[in-house]
Amino acid sequence: MKLLVTGGAGYVGSVTSRLLLDAGHEVTVLDNLVTGFRAAVAPEATFVEADIADAAQVLTPGSGFDAVLHFAGLIAAGESMVKPELYWHDNVVKSLALLDAVRAAGVPRFIFSSTAAVYGNPVELPITENAVKAPTNTYGATKLTFDHALTSEAFAHNLAAVSLRYFNVAGAYISGGHEIGERHDPETHLIPITLQVAAGKREKLQIFGDDYPTADGTCVRDYIHVQDLARAHLLALDAATAGEHRIYNLGNGNGFSNKQVVEVAREVTGVDLPVELAPRREGDPATLVASSARAREELGWVPEKNTLQAMIGDAWSFYRSHVA
Ligand code: UDP
Repeated sequence: MKLLVTGGAGYVGSVTSRLLLDAGHEVTVLDNLVTGFRAAVAPEATFVEADIADAAQVLTPGSGFDAVLHFAGLIAAGESMVKPELYWHDNVVKSLALLDAVRAAGVPRFIFSSTAAVYGNPVELPITENAVKAPTNTYGATKLTFDHALTSEAFAHNLAAVSLRYFNVAGAYISGGHEIGERHDPETHLIPITLQVAAGKREKLQIFGDDYPTADGTCVRDYIHVQDLARAHLLALDAATAGEHRIYNLGNGNGFSNKQVVEVAREVTGVDLPVELAPRREGDPATLVASSARAREELGWVPEKNTLQAMIGDAWSFYRSHVA
């Protein structure tokens, strides 16, 4: 297939591009490099440095793209509470412009990076796709808004749309001489921050809150290896059906608390990470754990690297050779 990957210079987008290329697809990466890294784009991909709001430059009527995989977007839940306007603009306004370009170019399939943050504080665990959607942060609200846009687009204009709701992505792609991993500047996510501390790049780790209604009082998240997550996109491309908006949660179904993450990071890195308790971060749900039963049944997706040791281990190898 001829594919356009927005955000293909970012973490999940670059790993997925690698798998798409390995599977024989033709990949064009569209990325404005505001948060992405040019070096993360596979040399075999065509690279266009542009904003998704200008996607029509690439998605011309005769361009013949078979699908768009839309990874580009802002992803920091905490930041979305202090700069909500940025999130509404980038994740919704610009994504709608991309969707206009998709429609005008007659692209039949669209795969979207949605998030577990659309659910907010779950009423029942594990979270299924039918659970109440009540995001507690602006990030989740913007992703849910675009999910709604895809539902109506599929219905009205026969798009084959799939939203993949990622839980917490971790690990790195290390295979066949390629090493692709996570780097954000500034970093806001728990695992990469623990690695920065382990590498001596940051003095200490702050844990945001220990008075949540969880076993040890710290927030619980469901971590998924980026290779498993990327693989689901290829399955979603095959499953996408005209006129339908399919939605799949992608997680392991196991929750790990922030304190447990720190313990495993200590084990993997061999560094006794200094940790300090800090106030809660605005907008954080206490527990997010996925039911991925639908993805397993309908896509045949099975996560393979589902231990924190494997995820933090791969992230640490990438971090030491490429970031530190
Ligand atoms: N977290 C933390 N200290 C940090 C960064 C994150 O305690 O320096 C916590 C955060 O409050 C949340 C969990 O780690 O409870 C996961 O946050 P992250 O930003 O990695 O992902 P999110 O779940 O927000 O997508």
